[in-house]
Amino acid sequence: MVEGEANRTRASRVDEITVVMGELSTFVADSIEFYFSELARGTIAEGAVFRFQKLEARAVCSNCGFQFRPQNAIFTCPDCSSPFFELKQGRELFIESIDVSGAQFPRSEGVELQ
Ligand SMILES: [Zn+2]
Repeated sequence: MVEGEANRTRASRVDEITVVMGELSTFVADSIEFYFSELARGTIAEGAVFRFQKLEARAVCSNCGFQFRPQNAIFTCPDCSSPFFELKQGRELFIESIDVSGAQFPRSEGVELQ
């Protein structure tokens, strides 16, 4: 996947990969980095540096509409204590950008890993 992106642009080397993680994502940065470096071995992405960006969690209460930032696995609305809510953001895991020999690509297809 990372390699495909680089091939498409005829780059010779992947320098840096930026990964965005929701703060409630169950993934661990270290294991993602390990997983990718295993995949990248022998490809132009070998030795690429990983950068991780945390994305704040956001939820909306289904009862009163209050917006809040859930910070652990079990939470209730801080306004009305309802346990029903919709998680709007926080479980994401995607590649934000891939730096290929100085050229930067904005998030395009939004590669979903989860
Ligand atoms: Zn509420």
